[in-house]
Amino acid sequence: MNYFSSNFKLGILGGGQLGKMLLNEARKFDIYTCVLDASEEAPCKISCNEFFVGDLMDYDTVYYFGKNVDVLTIEIENVNVDALANLEKEGVKVYPQANTIRTIQNKVKQKLFYIDNNLPTASFSRFAYKDEILTAIRHETLNFPFVWKSAQFGYDGMGVKIVKSRSDLDNLPNVESVIEEFVPFKNELAVIVARNEDGELATFPVVEMEFHPEANQVEYVICPARISEEVAKKAERVALKASSAFKHVGLLAVEMFLTENDEILINEVAPRPHNSGHHTIESNYTSQFEQHIRAILNLPLGSTEKKAGGVMVNLVGEEDHTGDVIYKNIGKIMHMKGVTPHIYGKKQTRPFRKMGHVTIINQDVSQARKIAGDVKQTIQVISE
Ligand code: ADP
Repeated sequence: MNYFSSNFKLGILGGGQLGKMLLNEARKFDIYTCVLDASEEAPCKISCNEFFVGDLMDYDTVYYFGKNVDVLTIEIENVNVDALANLEKEGVKVYPQANTIRTIQNKVKQKLFYIDNNLPTASFSRFAYKDEILTAIRHETLNFPFVWKSAQFGYDGMGVKIVKSRSDLDNLPNVESVIEEFVPFKNELAVIVARNEDGELATFPVVEMEFHPEANQVEYVICPARISEEVAKKAERVALKASSAFKHVGLLAVEMFLTENDEILINEVAPRPHNSGHHTIESNYTSQFEQHIRAILNLPLGSTEKKAGGVMVNLVGEEDHTGDVIYKNIGKIMHMKGVTPHIYGKKQTRPFRKMGHVTIINQDVSQARKIAGDVKQTIQVISE
């Protein structure tokens, strides 16, 4: 198939910032794009060829959207997978495949997949209702601390709670969940693996993620991770093993914990561009977004080598602000060396909503991290 300047159509389910950055690369290759999102004001709206408003979880909406494109991809996992499975049967190329998405949508299935494929992960139990958790605590078969994760529809730390005492369970919903042992990790790492239809593989350098203590959301991504060569190799091996188990097409972002004994445990995976790869736009030969497009169109994968050290700072809404957004002091950070802001185009800010990110590149990654701290102190996402 000739993707370049033909009548080929690429469909993207989801119109958020990941989709918007994917569209920039699609535009570079002059690929015709269609996007489906629930919101009339989705960030993708301004940069695709055709924009459709509809529910990503609705069978008919996803099915008829998919019928109109040649290759269909996602920028969010919460989509109707039955529609994707049928589209696949009818000849639409769905990448990542419906099967991969189905496994990843449910954390119980995802954890069982790791066990079945001999992939290292924290030990866990499955609970259908909250009552069962309370019973296990009473019978002392479950002890504090542990980590509660809703089996479905968790995103950006919203479906995760570190439970240290009974009262931490009070506000949790009564839904199917995974209870994981609490891992006292040294570090959180991530590796993005790209795999095309021919099975060609490429990994991006290992990154380190620093979390916001309260929001349980990534605050800084640091590339390369400040770890030994040996640990980096181990993380890369685990990510590649996960990639060959899934046999996905497109990207697979593998989030991992580095334990106190330098063991690697997979936390979770995402079969799409990921927050831990945003810095690649400025700091690597090929960005994760271009690589995803190369992989799903079965083109040769690009070099993942880094040009410089890169640090990414997420720009999230300040705690006490809700409403029309303002990026206070954005001009000031643009005076700083190697600093590039990305604004996603969401009109309204809310506490901790991801509104943009800033990349800092520098030959010396510790200098980039220092500038990232200054960026974080300076710019503020507030409401009017
Ligand atoms: P989400 O799907 O919302 O991104 P994650 O499963 O990645 O949720 O969890 C969010 C964060 O919670 C992790 O990045 C980590 O900081 C913390 N966390 C998750 N699982 C564990 C665990 N088993 N032990 C310790 N901390 C954990």
